[in-house]
Amino acid sequence: MKIIDGKKVSIEVLDEIKSSVDNRVKNNLKIPHLAAILVGNDGPSKTYVNSKIKACERVGFKSSLFKYSDSISENDLIDEIQKINNNDDIDGFIVQLPLPKDINQEKILSQVDPYKDVDGFHPINYGKMALGIDTFLPATPAGIIELIERSKIQTAGKKCLVIGRSQIVGRPISILLSQNKIFGNATVTVAHSRTSNLEELCLESDLIISAIGKPEFIKGDMVKKGSTIIDVGITRVDDSSSHKGYRIAGDVDFNSVSSRVGFITPVPGGVGPMTIAMLLKNTLKACSLSD
Ligand code: NAD
Repeated sequence: MKIIDGKKVSIEVLDEIKSSVDNRVKNNLKIPHLAAILVGNDGPSKTYVNSKIKACERVGFKSSLFKYSDSISENDLIDEIQKINNNDDIDGFIVQLPLPKDINQEKILSQVDPYKDVDGFHPINYGKMALGIDTFLPATPAGIIELIERSKIQTAGKKCLVIGRSQIVGRPISILLSQNKIFGNATVTVAHSRTSNLEELCLESDLIISAIGKPEFIKGDMVKKGSTIIDVGITRVDDSSSHKGYRIAGDVDFNSVSSRVGFITPVPGGVGPMTIAMLLKNTLKACSLSD
């Protein structure tokens, strides 16, 4: 069994981005600038945004954080997005999800300028992704493809099971893995909460991507020997032995699964760090497009 070290791979990607930024500085080109919109006080959202800002510092990007109270109206938030759309110094920005319940997420994401949409969630970019046209790929699926590619895991002709059909992970990774690309060409099945034969599907799969958010749900007796397991799940589980009072768990029961499979991503330290690295890669791309 080989552990796919997402932390290590993400550092490789960040170092590549840093050297591109250094080159841009040498050539008097613009320094990439990523902005984030954070609405409300959700603890995990604050943590994710702070990690993104820290990663910007690491690679030499400029970053800005726009914070709003969860009582902001949809129209006021749209006005703020338009201001960022019109701010020439900002190359790309994200709206940290989830948004408060009273705000229509779809409506808000469609207000982001597609050329600054480094999360790849605008319908135009999502449509391009589905059509296989070069665009900003959503960061988590892009990070999964990058991990597969850099670990030299073959996907062509393999049976791949994506568990979860969310718009940010399950749906896009199922599209990318089925496309006619080197690290695609898999025969993809998408399982979800209404799937009745999940264990059977798991057992016959060469590659499982799990994005459901149920801690340690996938057990060793559910996976095929020698298969590859990519665990996207991140759930806070109460743990009195940790000083934080919780630990982070993936969807996969690492202890029982790891001894049977060929490759596996740990949680933490697997897909999570790749997501941030790919967001920065998209921001560098947005900045280069406006050179
Ligand atoms: P989500 O929370 O929107 O939806 C969960 C999906 O799981 C749904 O499509 C549902 O149909 C499916 N599901 C639920 N129970 C199931 C079951 N028993 N069998 C089969 N399918 C089932 O999905 P999401 O936003 O993609 O998040 C999934 C997990 O991935 C969460 O833990 C989230 O925190 C994590 N996540 C991690 C990253 C990262 O960077 N590593 C990024 C995004 C999401």
